[in-house]
Amino acid sequence: MRTLGLAMGMICVGAALHEHGAGIDAWILLAANLLVWPHLAYRLVRRSVEPVQAEYRNLAFDSAMGGFWIAAMQFALVPSAVLAVMLTMDKMIVGGWRFALRCLLGMLLTCIAASAAWGFAFQPNATQAMLLASLPLLIAYPMAIGHSVHTIWLKARHQREMLDRMARFDGATGLMNRQQWLYAASLELKRFQRSGRPAVLILIDIDHFKSINDSHGHTMGDHVVEEFARLLKACLRETDTGGRYGGDEFGIVMPETRWEEAIVAAERLRRQVAVYVFNRDGLRCTVSIGLAEINSSIASVSEWVDAADSALYRAKRNGRDCIAVY
Ligand code: GH3
Ligand code: MG
Repeated sequence: MRTLGLAMGMICVGAALHEHGAGIDAWILLAANLLVWPHLAYRLVRRSVEPVQAEYRNLAFDSAMGGFWIAAMQFALVPSAVLAVMLTMDKMIVGGWRFALRCLLGMLLTCIAASAAWGFAFQPNATQAMLLASLPLLIAYPMAIGHSVHTIWLKARHQREMLDRMARFDGATGLMNRQQWLYAASLELKRFQRSGRPAVLILIDIDHFKSINDSHGHTMGDHVVEEFARLLKACLRETDTGGRYGGDEFGIVMPETRWEEAIVAAERLRRQVAVYVFNRDGLRCTVSIGLAEINSSIASVSEWVDAADSALYRAKRNGRDCIAVY
């Protein structure tokens, strides 16, 4: 962007220098600004321990040089305005109003200093050639800035979507995480309170999961969790919401479902898990399941979860690998 901006800007400045019959020193400085500065600026950033700060300094220097070239153009109104606006617009994008104003001030100071030191005249009327030479900067630079801002915006949107996903879903299983799943359960509870439509909340816990970790290692434990989540997802209807409640505990919210129907689905899952072989050594595991149908005595999600949890506790006490209903 710096190389492009300078190239376009130098056409504009070069036309003015030509019209004013500028000396060789001005042309050498112009060539150095165009050919040397972008590479130097890049190196300064690459070598800096604080590259962002270094680039802010480079951007401020861009503006300061802009002030110098406005004075060298003898304040030709349109080319000077184009240069000043372009040099301020990108500062605004990068650093907001405060940074843009600071750079504008720097531009003004170098402008005054250059006029005083080099004795530049004041000729606000631009020739036709100078106006034409301003067009590349006026047209190409905003387009390029627009393109790069759009690219950054797309990247930011993608990252926001990823963060959003990470905040709502469990990374290992792809199921909703605890908060999101509890939120889904709370929506179902509200629906019941509004319209009295039934729903069931199921809690599932892998039996003796600690001993799987202890005897087969944590990696195998993770694998069991992932495979179990796959089996669980395959058992869900489109309207059911599965989630990882935490560790080896999972949940399902089943809307429009009575406990008798939920038992059938839970039993199917329990059986599928019991016969599933998790590794080549024939590792198997079982799950205990507790389920609770919503009723009017349940006033909050935590009460609903507690109800399913007490059923799950009973299933564990009853010898595991079974289902209990609240
Ligand atoms: P119970 O039959 O009573 O449920 O016994 P359990 O051994 O499964 O006991 P509990 O549910 O209390 O323990 C679960 C253990 O699972 C505790 C924790 O160390 C382990 N664990 C939790 N999440 C993960 C995970 O993502 N990967 C692995 N490998 N282990 C996990
Ligand atoms: Mg367990």
